[in-house]
Amino acid sequence: SPIPDYLHHVLETARPNEGGAAADYIETLANADTSKMAICLSMVDGNVYSAGDDKIEFSIQSISKAFVYAIAIEDAGLDQVLSKIGVEPSGDRFNQLSLERNTNRPMNPMINAGAITAHSLVVSPTATLDQRTERILNALSRLAGRQLHVDEEVYQAELKDADRNMAIGYMLKAAGIITCDPQEAVRGYIRQCAINVNVQDLAMMSAVLANAGVHPVSNEQIIPQTSVRQVLSVMTTCGMYDAAGDWVSSVGFPAKSGVAGAIIGALPGQVGIATFSPKIDERGNSVRGVAMCQQLSREMGLHMMDAS
Ligand code: GLU
Repeated sequence: SPIPDYLHHVLETARPNEGGAAADYIETLANADTSKMAICLSMVDGNVYSAGDDKIEFSIQSISKAFVYAIAIEDAGLDQVLSKIGVEPSGDRFNQLSLERNTNRPMNPMINAGAITAHSLVVSPTATLDQRTERILNALSRLAGRQLHVDEEVYQAELKDADRNMAIGYMLKAAGIITCDPQEAVRGYIRQCAINVNVQDLAMMSAVLANAGVHPVSNEQIIPQTSVRQVLSVMTTCGMYDAAGDWVSSVGFPAKSGVAGAIIGALPGQVGIATFSPKIDERGNSVRGVAMCQQLSREMGLHMMDAS
């Protein structure tokens, strides 16, 4: 197949771009090897193609929000989830202390307020941190096709720096949006963000979204199709921090990025995509990751608004 050669070409085209910087709010991210780069495509027919440092692990961070939203829908039901979390792009920073004026809901599940709420709905509102963590780890592992683990160093470091997320947790509790202990919800959210993955895991997880919830390799229906539609819709409007408009016009497939430098994309009916490069721009998106996705979209014709 010519695809691996092509992916190498995409990597090498993006490599000279030295823009951005690794996130520095915790040591582990600040010390990331910024020379590492990887890309992986997981086709809905089960074929996987990757290039670069495709076994390098990093914390999933905000990309977990998309999948935990799907789990919350499964565990609490879509109506309950919609009554607690909106689906409008916020235009605010991802960690803004803000809620919708009339409903008190967080604007969407991709900002921290919405993600912490989604986390609190996993299993049940009375579940323990361990029960929710186990549920999320199992679900993400099933999507990836291998057992995933929490990076305890990242978890501990994020916990020490959790004042803002704790504030969001208490805001949600005060507003009646979460009913559990806010600290428990925030710790669980931070733990979900500290799960380690590589680009192959992420591309496979995205391929399940691209394949209507059916795992391309095991052919099991892992996520109900109605949840997939909900997740991809919210990724399209809110997945790239404050760059949603630029992203959807220049790349044109639903995506989610994380502060460790990964981006996932899912083009329904075709492919799950994952890129990794630690240096992020001022909006929080991997500089080389965005460049690679733009190139892929342009050269492979992946923009969802293009008639093929
Ligand atoms: N753990 C980070 C936070 O919630 C995740 C940030 C991200 O990937 O955007 O602050």
